[in-house]
Amino acid sequence: MARLDGYAAVLFDLDGVITSTARQHFAAWKEMFDDFLDMCAERNGEPFIPFGDDDYHRHVDGMPRYDGVRRFLAERGMTLEEGGPDDPPDAETVHGLGNRKNELVNDIIRRDGVEVYDGSLALLHQVRDQGIKTAVVSSSRNCQTILRAAGITDLFDVRVDGVVAAELGLPGKPAPDTFLAAAERLGVPPQRSVVVEDALSGVEAGRNGGFGLVIGVNRVGQGEALRDHGADVVVTDLAELLSS
Ligand SMILES: [Mg+2]
Repeated sequence: MARLDGYAAVLFDLDGVITSTARQHFAAWKEMFDDFLDMCAERNGEPFIPFGDDDYHRHVDGMPRYDGVRRFLAERGMTLEEGGPDDPPDAETVHGLGNRKNELVNDIIRRDGVEVYDGSLALLHQVRDQGIKTAVVSSSRNCQTILRAAGITDLFDVRVDGVVAAELGLPGKPAPDTFLAAAERLGVPPQRSVVVEDALSGVEAGRNGGFGLVIGVNRVGQGEALRDHGADVVVTDLAELLSS
């Protein structure tokens, strides 16, 4: 079993690690891309190939919104104009599609609420009781809203999310920069920090940053892929990391 008590900091991803919002993100990406792909297929007289689980895990999950749009479109051999962050959600641009996805995910989260995994909550309390520092490191610009909705803002010493990354000009996962910035803000070297991630791009960021331990959280049966992308240890629930 992986032991965390020798480390000085644990850096947690949010969606899919602390909260069950990864499912809601997938649903929003799928609705947005399927509408777009269906429209393109009809326009070009080509078959409609929907956005699937594999597309999500390989090209979108864990990444900043617009990077996800670009990467998935490139995978399908499609390119769109960039546009800008203020593009309306119906604009046929990278930013327009990203904004549409954001609108959808906010609707879904408002409707469903935010669920915190019990095992994650227990681990957060335990590591903090042990004097280990905690950070939340998320690509999401909605991170703060989700933390507040879940009532868990106080369980993190530092937050590096999509808003902070944009302010600092940090590249998103799989680049390690957001995790490195969190460790630095906590005053802990990467070798003494643990990264906890459920996305392939996220464990890759952990490996790229030279962190002491990278833990992959396997919520959807992709344990082997998590290991291939850089997880030292794979768990299905963070309760497995609790020390007795
Ligand atoms: Mg995640």
